[in-house]
Amino acid sequence: MGFEIPASLINHLRECHSAAALSGAGTSAESGIPTFREAQAGLWARYDPQELATPQAFQQDPRLVWEWYSWRRDLVRKAAPNQGHHALAQMAMHIPEFSLITQNVDGLHQQAGSPQVIELHGNILRTRCALEGTLIEQWMSAEDIPPRCPNCGGLLRPDVVWFGESLPVDALERAYHAADRCEVFFSIGTSTLVEPAASLPFIALQQGAVVVEINPQSTPLSGSANYVLPGLFSVVLPILVQAVWGG
Ligand code: NAD
Repeated sequence: MGFEIPASLINHLRECHSAAALSGAGTSAESGIPTFREAQAGLWARYDPQELATPQAFQQDPRLVWEWYSWRRDLVRKAAPNQGHHALAQMAMHIPEFSLITQNVDGLHQQAGSPQVIELHGNILRTRCALEGTLIEQWMSAEDIPPRCPNCGGLLRPDVVWFGESLPVDALERAYHAADRCEVFFSIGTSTLVEPAASLPFIALQQGAVVVEINPQSTPLSGSANYVLPGLFSVVLPILVQAVWGG
């Protein structure tokens, strides 16, 4: 695919001292982890992920939600970072201040070597007690599904942020700070629909940053972004890094 990166964007990036990138589920799609907006596989095809990833769903049917997350956890454990993740990790080495903010819960950016990733929505590989909030590493794999907290007997749940829940304050503050001071902001593989992450590129636009969107589909950001690169993460990012910094 002959994807042209505009010369003016190449110049911005060569001169850039501070950049931020927001990633969404689209960056992991090519690593085999489906986004919430695409059809789910097999057994789970008849469920809407946006209805399972809620505190209400867990309250009503904790077993169903735990089993869905167990299936996703297995997908995540088998997944590997793609060429886009690797290119993003390289980009961080070329730009003195680089903040990577992710809505993904799969840890693939970290696996690719991106430093200090800001996880807005937690991590599916961590588990916590739904009652006390304590992170739990080990539990009795008895017949209880979900398993019970070894300390208090409460139900265990994935350490992710569900729709309608608050984001971790520290991660959110770091994300706002990065959007507020960067010269270039990338919005990659995200539908720009889930708040508060969806506001970050608009904060960057408002303070005068150059905003670049990478997504094969248009989003509410597309009309306002300075550059829209309508391609796949694993294709566009390596081409961009090669065009700006070579090798
Ligand atoms: P989303 O599902 O709402 O949107 C995904 C976006 O990625 C879409 O706009 C789509 O056009 C784009 N996309 C798909 N394939 C792409 C590719 N190969 N390259 C570039 N773009 C591509 O995801 P979201 O905006 O991240 O928000 C939904 C919520 O779902 C988030 O809260 C997130 O925590 C959660 N989620 C996380 C994962 C994960 O950790 N991998 C997976 C699914 C959902």
